[in-house]
Amino acid sequence: MNSRHIYLTTTIPYVNAAPHLGHALEFVQADALARHYRRRGDPVRFQTGTDDNSLKNVLAAEAAGVSVRELVDANAAAFEALAGPLSLSVDDVIRTSSDPRHLAGVERLWQACADSGDLYRRHYEGLYCVGCEAFYTQSELDRGVCPDHGVPPQLVAEENWFFRLSKYADRLGDEIRAGRLRIEPAGRRNEVLAFIGAGLADFSVSRSTARAHGWGIPVPGDPSQVIYVWFDALGNYVTALGYGTDESNLSRWWSGARRRIHLLGKGVLRFHAVYWPAILASAGLPLPTDLLVHDHLTVQGRKISKSGGTTVDPAALLADYGTDAVRWWLLREVPRIGDADFSSERLVARANDELANGIGNLVSRVCGLVSRYRSAVVPAAECLPPGSDALLDARRNAPELTEAALSVGDFRRATGAVWAIAAEANRYVSQSRPWLLADAERGGSQQAGRDLDAILACLVSTCRDLACQLEPFLPDASERIAATWGRPGEPSPGGRQLFTRLTLRGTAAG
Ligand SMILES: [Zn+2]
Repeated sequence: MNSRHIYLTTTIPYVNAAPHLGHALEFVQADALARHYRRRGDPVRFQTGTDDNSLKNVLAAEAAGVSVRELVDANAAAFEALAGPLSLSVDDVIRTSSDPRHLAGVERLWQACADSGDLYRRHYEGLYCVGCEAFYTQSELDRGVCPDHGVPPQLVAEENWFFRLSKYADRLGDEIRAGRLRIEPAGRRNEVLAFIGAGLADFSVSRSTARAHGWGIPVPGDPSQVIYVWFDALGNYVTALGYGTDESNLSRWWSGARRRIHLLGKGVLRFHAVYWPAILASAGLPLPTDLLVHDHLTVQGRKISKSGGTTVDPAALLADYGTDAVRWWLLREVPRIGDADFSSERLVARANDELANGIGNLVSRVCGLVSRYRSAVVPAAECLPPGSDALLDARRNAPELTEAALSVGDFRRATGAVWAIAAEANRYVSQSRPWLLADAERGGSQQAGRDLDAILACLVSTCRDLACQLEPFLPDASERIAATWGRPGEPSPGGRQLFTRLTLRGTAAG
């Protein structure tokens, strides 16, 4: 495969309410990856969207006394409105209830599975959790209630269309074990392999139109049923590329792409690692290449939830603390494995320690030194900057460490490698004591002058390098840092404060 094309998606959240911080986490992770690959020179398509057809949206609209259309439009707009304040470099957004590509694409996907003989009708009785949009067996429940939502499921008995998932168990296991379908981290991969190993039961891919309250995509040729929302929602990853409509993008970004990467939360792992690849296999389409699975954010140790009063409004957070601080907390503090507990105190502390005091202070110190000792013109170096080994190592290692960390979805480790440049550079300013060299130069030492030139040149090129390495994570700050210095021989504009010190505000977080 010679293509370098990379297709990168977030899951499409259901829009029964406004977005919370957990959504922002996934968006920002995907954006950092998209920017990283683009910077490497790979063509990237970064896609997100909204799942409008969930039954949960219907129930939320009924509870609020508005039409489903009004509810999904309002909440989808709130999701789309995050793209600007979060500095997301999104290429495409698909809405499953209104995008003309989606309806035609899902019908085609259904037909392709039907043509493979994988769809059949049968009577079914099961325990259904609307919160999960999934059936549970008695043994999967936690003392009779949904383990995720803590509510008893409904008993549903009806005639449904089923998908022959059992047929694909061996193929899925092979793809995952061979690494052609890579699941990170390894614990999630093992979880999926164990689930497949225990045997895959066929699953229901439609529901009665009455139970769906008439909302959703009708089953082709069977108006008594609508297509199960997960079959519909998962399809967005190919319908947005024109599957079933104009397929030129499909061959570029799906069938012929080097990597097809889905970012997702642990709660929807089974749908992405089992159901979705099986549907694709049935339809004769290539499987995703990478599933990067993140854990959840908590507030005061509890899962973020609207009903539990532990929600965090990312729009308010961004208005209070700005893009850089929010992105930095999400990327720098959330661990690869395990839930991360959010608080505004932690966000403010992290931003002040590492952005204002760390990176901001570095850039302003270097700017001040160049301005004081070289009239703001960045000097050329004629010798190696003395004692700079640790700093140069941090700079040399950062790209490789970042690449390795991002390939497994470890954003904390990736930003750690970039942060190390700033930490080493601040140490270097203190250790190399340029002010003493400036004194010696004024006293007539030419060697001191040459050393000072080399140190200042090294510090400026470090700041430029830092701006470049930071770009995937903090694109706004990266641009401001890069704009601090002038061209060779010209005075630097400098001077602007990069990060304001934050003080705690009480509005955003529960
Ligand atoms: Zn549930």
